[in-house]
Amino acid sequence: MAEEKKYLYGPVPSRRLGLSLGVDIVPFKVCTLDCVYCQLGKTSEKTTERKEYVPAEAVLAELKETLAQGLQADFITISGSGEPTLNLRLGELIDGIKKVTDIPVAVLTNGTLLYRQDVRTNCAKADVVLPSLDAGDKQAFEEINRPHKDIIIENLISGLCVFRNEFAGSIWLEVFLIEGLNTDARQIAKIKNAIKRIQPDKVQLNTAVRPTTHAGIKRVDTEKLEAIAAELGKKCEVVADFSQGRCGKHIESKAEDVLSMLKRRPCSLNEICSGLGIHHNEALKYITHFQQQRMVDSSEKDGTTFFKAIRRKINTD
Ligand code: SF4
Repeated sequence: MAEEKKYLYGPVPSRRLGLSLGVDIVPFKVCTLDCVYCQLGKTSEKTTERKEYVPAEAVLAELKETLAQGLQADFITISGSGEPTLNLRLGELIDGIKKVTDIPVAVLTNGTLLYRQDVRTNCAKADVVLPSLDAGDKQAFEEINRPHKDIIIENLISGLCVFRNEFAGSIWLEVFLIEGLNTDARQIAKIKNAIKRIQPDKVQLNTAVRPTTHAGIKRVDTEKLEAIAAELGKKCEVVADFSQGRCGKHIESKAEDVLSMLKRRPCSLNEICSGLGIHHNEALKYITHFQQQRMVDSSEKDGTTFFKAIRRKINTD
C-alpha cells in the first residue's frame, strides 16, 4: 500500500481541472465562510487571520517525493479543507512548486481575501485562479455563504476586479446555484452585473450534486442551468460531471474501495477517510460520482451525513 500523504491527495479527476493533484494547506475546516452548501460540513474556525497553518517545507517535501514517483496530472491544485489563501506562505509554496515541476498550478479560492494586496500577489503566481461568487447582493451572500463578520460582498467583488487587472493568468469564476436561493431573475441579473465588472475568462455554473450537511439545499435542474448559462453570456458554461473525464486504473480502484465500503454499511465522510486513508476532498469526488450514477445515496443522522450504496433489485423474470 502506498504511504499515506499528509498534505497531498489524488490525483483525482476534477470536473474543472482534468486530473488534479490536490494540495491541502489549511486544516479542517478553517475558512472565511461557512457556505450552506459546503460538502465538508460546518466551518469549525471562521477567521480572516492569515498564518502558516501548515509548514510550507513539509508540503514541498511531500510534493517532491510524489513527483519522483512519476506523477501525472493536468494541474497541481492548491485548495484545502477550508480557504487556502488563509495560509500566509501561499506565495512561497507556489514558487516552490514551480521550481520542481512544469505542471501548471491552480488555486481554488472563495475569493474573499482578494481585496488584500498580499493575497493578490500570492495568487498571481499561479497559472489559473478559480474564485467563487454565488450572490449578487449582501442579503443573498449572507444567506448562502454565511461570511465572517469582516467579510463584505462589495470587497469580494472589487477585490476580484482589481485582481483581474493585475493577473495575467486565467480566472475561472464559479457560481454555485441553489434552487430558490440565488436562481430568481433579480439575483441572476445582479450576478451578471458583477461578472461584467470582474471580466473572468470563464464562468462555470455548478449546483448541489454533492452531499451537504444542510437540509433543504436543492439542486438546479439541467435545463434551468443551461438557461441561466445562456443568460450569463458566452463565457459561461455548466461544468460537466467527472464520469465523462479520463480516469486511470489507480483512480478506478480507489473508487471501487469506497463503493465496496458503502456496500457493507452506511458510513460518514470521516469514517470513509479514516477507513481508507484518503483525504476528504478525494473521498467526496468518488461519492459525488456514485451519487450522479445513482449508486450511492445519503441520509442525515444527528447532523452527520451518512452514505450508503443503493442495492439494485435483480430482475429474475
Ligand atoms: S468557501 Fe469552500 S470550504 Fe469554505 S465554507 Fe464555502 S464551500 Fe466550504
